[in-house]
Amino acid sequence: MQQDILEVLFTEEMIQDKVRELGAAISRDYTGKSPLFICILKGAVMFMADLAKRTDIPLEMDFMAISSYGDSTKSSGVVRILKDLDKEVEGRDLIIVEDIIDSGLTLSYLRNLLLQRNAKSIRIVTLFDKPEGRTVNISPNYFGFQVPNRFIVGYGLDYADKYRNLPYVGILRPEVYSH
Ligand code: 5GP
Ligand code: MG
Ligand code: MG
Repeated sequence: MQQDILEVLFTEEMIQDKVRELGAAISRDYTGKSPLFICILKGAVMFMADLAKRTDIPLEMDFMAISSYGDSTKSSGVVRILKDLDKEVEGRDLIIVEDIIDSGLTLSYLRNLLLQRNAKSIRIVTLFDKPEGRTVNISPNYFGFQVPNRFIVGYGLDYADKYRNLPYVGILRPEVYSH
């Protein structure tokens, strides 16, 4: 698997340091509150697990699966709920936990949906942000790293459902896509 990576952009240490910073910021902002962390499966699963451990407040967790990408590297613009939340969100402070924001379509759809369900507040935390890819007006309240318009994998981010288990984030060799 490692040999498929052309270049490492974010090492495990860089990611863990950043996650600790984000956890501290959220802990400060939500002191005395008990927000519901909503992990967007499957990409945000590593980030959710690490971020929750670095956040020192009595948070709760739930999980949602949405599809906007197939196995390709481009957004289809189609957003579909594959797995809905177990918990009621009415009156709750929500923090949507995402791996990466590109076009913003996924989050824009999700935020509207959660607003319709009468959430009290909604904030977005994403580990990676690709501002150049944006086609809708949405921005995260907390982000880890801004990344250029390239396709990255690792730490939850996949190509054709693989490479999620890399502890770092990098770029694939072009040969991998043509297989
Ligand atoms: P958006 O709706 O913002 O265009 O898409 C966001 C979703 O697309 C992310 O949650 C992620 O699953 C996927 N995505 C966007 N950019 C990348 C990337 O560079 N690498 C990977 N593996 N997935 C990406
Ligand atoms: Mg995602
Ligand atoms: Mg994906």
